[in-house]
Formats: sequence, C-alpha cells, structure tokens
Amino acid sequence: MTAKIIDGNALSAEVRGQLAERAAVLKAKGITPCLAAILVGEDPASAVYVRNKVAACEKAGMRSIKDVYAVDVDPAVVFARIAELNADPSVHGILVQLPLPKHFDSAAVLESISPEKDVDGFHAENVGALMQGSPRFIPCTPYGVMKMLESANVPLKGAEVVIVGRSNIVGKPMAMLLLAQSCTVTICHSQSKDLAFHTRRADILVAAVGRAKMITGDMIKPGATVIDVGINRTAEGKLCGDVDFESAKEVAGVITPVPGGVGPMTITMLLANTLEAAERCAK
Ligand code: NDP
Repeated sequence: MTAKIIDGNALSAEVRGQLAERAAVLKAKGITPCLAAILVGEDPASAVYVRNKVAACEKAGMRSIKDVYAVDVDPAVVFARIAELNADPSVHGILVQLPLPKHFDSAAVLESISPEKDVDGFHAENVGALMQGSPRFIPCTPYGVMKMLESANVPLKGAEVVIVGRSNIVGKPMAMLLLAQSCTVTICHSQSKDLAFHTRRADILVAAVGRAKMITGDMIKPGATVIDVGINRTAEGKLCGDVDFESAKEVAGVITPVPGGVGPMTITMLLANTLEAAERCAK
C-alpha cells in the first residue's frame, strides 16, 4: 500500500487565495492587515522563517514590518518596541521569532505582546482560552495540521491520536485541538517508555520531536494518518522530517511530506490569524 500524500503546498495555495480575497475586502474598507515580526540575532534558520513570513504577507496583500536586532541588544529596547507596536492601531499581529538569545526572558517577552495581537497564540491568556475550548488565536502549526486533517477527510471523533513531543508551540496545543474534536489523545516525550507501543496504536500519529527519521514504518499502524511536523537536516544537508518517509508511506494510509507538508501550512495559518485580528478591528 502507498499512502495518500497531503500536499501542504497545494493546500496552502488554496487557503492563501481565500485569505487574499478576504484581505482585499478589508482593504476596500481602508484597513490593510499588518503583521510585525521581530527577529533578534543572526540564527540562519530564524532569519529564513521571518523572511518567508514577511514575503507571504506581502503576497497575500497584507502589510508587514520587520525589525531586526543585534544578538546582544538590550531586552529593554525590544520591550519598548513591542509596547509601541501594541499601541499602533495599524498593526494587527505581532510575533517575536523564537528562540531568543539566552539573556532574554522569553516568557516575559511573549507576555508583553498584547493578547489581541498575539497571532502566534503563545500568550498565557491565549493558551488558557485554547485550553478552555474558546481560542482567540490557535497556534499556527497545530492550526495548519487541523486544516490538513480536514482537507483529507480524516475522521477525528473517537480516533486514537498519539502525539510525539510536548512543546508549548506544537505538542500541547495540538493535543488540545484534537481533544476538542473528541479524539482520545496520548502525548509521548523523551521519557516515555516503549514509544513504538504507543505509536503502533495510533489512528493519527503526529511527530513533533526534531529527530531526523526517528519514526519508521514498523512503528506505524497500517492505514494510519501520519503527520510529520519535524524539520531536520540529514548528514548530506537535505531537509527531512521526524518520520522516515520511505518506509512510512508503505504502511500509512495518509501522510504529510517534508518539505512541502506542515511547514507551508504554518505560515498560511499565521496569515489567517493576522487577517482574523484585522477583521476583528474592522467590526
Ligand atoms: P522541542 O524541542 O520544543 O520539543 C521536542 C519534543 O520532543 C519534546 O517534548 C521532547 O521531550 C520530545 N522528544 C525528544 N526526544 C524524544 C524521543 N527520543 N522520543 C520521544 N520524544 C522525544 O521542539 P518543537 O516542538 O519546537 O519542534 C519539534 C520539531 O518540529 C522540530 O523539528 C521543529 O523544527 C519542528 N517545527 C516545525 C514547524 C513547522 O512549521 N513545520 C513549526 C515548529 C516546529 P521532552 O519534553 O521530554 O524533552
């Protein structure tokens, strides 16, 4: 059996087209959705992520602001800039690219963003709202995964879900979203015993670890849906996921590739959240 592949690029293009139409409606009312992105330091991966986010905004007819600071910047400078962006009514979304340098208190930075402009959904108030089942902003990566599951008509009610990874930005919010859809959710992490025992039970398996090809075909239930969030590089420098795509696609029923899977959807849902924030301002 060869799995059906969910093409994240194609789905992104479709969703971004819908977002561009909504952005045009707002523009006609004199409101241009605007995302402000803050980057501290010169981490090459972070620089690429911010560049892609800003470029995607412009392409969807939205405005973007990009502030780049030196790695040794005084955190007070960044806090002051966030306060300025919070107060600026023409800015609808604010994101600070993580990770921040060690001399920053990352949690304090995230908490300083206005919850109404927190398009990454990382502010404690927004995390709480998601937990309570009434999210203001859904974190972009799990939001993109939900769209992918929907596009492939994957049944959720009562499904056994196993999520590998318990980070605040992927694993935990992913669990909350799937729980809200009446899945039975198990979250695994680095201390979980017998990972394969869990993964082999999963109707839907989400890998969000950051270890190249660690989920192999023999760890997957035949016919399962496999969502690969991981972004890693092989020894040859090629991008790959947490799932060994070659062996997994022979066992899974539905699978997402890397690259061209969850990655493009993450940026798409950032645009969706920014647009949503702007639409709320227009009401
Ligand atoms: P984190 O490093 O914050 O979390 C990784 C998680 O994996 C932790 O919960 C850790 O457990 C768990 N883990 C580590 N080793 C093992 C193991 N051997 N077995 C089981 N669990 C393990 O990563 P993120 O959640 O931020 O990101 C995960 C991956 O997803 C990365 O590759 C990242 O680049 C990618 N990513 C991709 C995005 C996209 O748009 N496609 C967006 C965001 C992230 P413990 O908690 O015990 O340490």
